[in-house]
Amino acid sequence: ERDRLARLRHTPAVTLDGERVELQANIELPVDAPAALEAGAVGVGLFRSEFLFMNRNGELPGEEEQFEAYRSAVEAMKGLPVTIRTVDIGADKPLDRMSSAELRHEHALNPALGLRAIRWSLSEPGMFRQQLRAILRAGAFGKVRLLIPMVAHLSEVRMTLEAIARAKQQLADAGRPHANVEVGAMIEVPAAALALPALLPHFDFVSVGTNDLIQYTLAIDRADEAVAHLYDPWHPAVLQLIARTIECARAAGKGVSVCGEMAGDPAFTELLLAMGLRSFSMHPSQIAAVKQRVLRADTRRLAPHLSAILSSENPEGACVTFFAKTGAPE
Ligand code: PEP
Ligand code: MG
Repeated sequence: ERDRLARLRHTPAVTLDGERVELQANIELPVDAPAALEAGAVGVGLFRSEFLFMNRNGELPGEEEQFEAYRSAVEAMKGLPVTIRTVDIGADKPLDRMSSAELRHEHALNPALGLRAIRWSLSEPGMFRQQLRAILRAGAFGKVRLLIPMVAHLSEVRMTLEAIARAKQQLADAGRPHANVEVGAMIEVPAAALALPALLPHFDFVSVGTNDLIQYTLAIDRADEAVAHLYDPWHPAVLQLIARTIECARAAGKGVSVCGEMAGDPAFTELLLAMGLRSFSMHPSQIAAVKQRVLRADTRRLAPHLSAILSSENPEGACVTFFAKTGAPE
């Protein structure tokens, strides 16, 4: 069994019909990078940079400290791409040192609907600029991509792209090495999934955050035990939003991946492949299980069942029925 898993690590994730699938890792800190490589990840699809900002008594990391952290993750991945998400602070990920905006927000009734992620970054332009410069500088040491969390409004997109352009200009003026990096948007607010055609021209790629997409689509607080039984990734509304996002991004020739928990759950592998997804990012421990599914899948036989599954009353049952018949596992 151990030998088999070791072999699997170096086996490229290709379906029976020859479709190449990218299985990347989600990491929280640079120290997680070796485990990602060890698991066979072909890159980091989500580096949750807020973990550098959490559990600190005192000051937040400045540009130099962040630069060192990003560079060490990039170097640890040995030339493979590293997608760094700008801080997704707020809601379930509070800061212990609070900024003035954060203090004003402390008593928000619905923090998940409040000042978090890109909203927080745009409210702290100095801090945001430091993070952007650190990421652009790390780009000089490998293939770095920049990912923006919780995008919903075009106005936020414009402000974010302006902040990136300013950060670049500052680095150029100071003669500091940096790189032009691809910029992507997390699609995790239903509005962003529905209005994707308006957002896409501004980004190089998108990554679907299913954890938040489920929370906001179903109005279920992802951290509230009392409603946890209603937190349902199989809900047809959730599946339809994911399918639309993948289809729309592909039609526009933009890269699309899924980096929420669904990407690492083998129960969804065939369905996501049927939707046209070819890039997944997950906890490193899930890569082997998802790869086994990919190796046994035939996308030409999966895809024709997609519309029936999406319009089914019971998509989970429909997946088991259809995909068992088409030679997929179980
Ligand atoms: C998500 O929302 O699916 C996601 C990947 O980001 P996080 O879980 O960090 O909010
Ligand atoms: Mg999220």
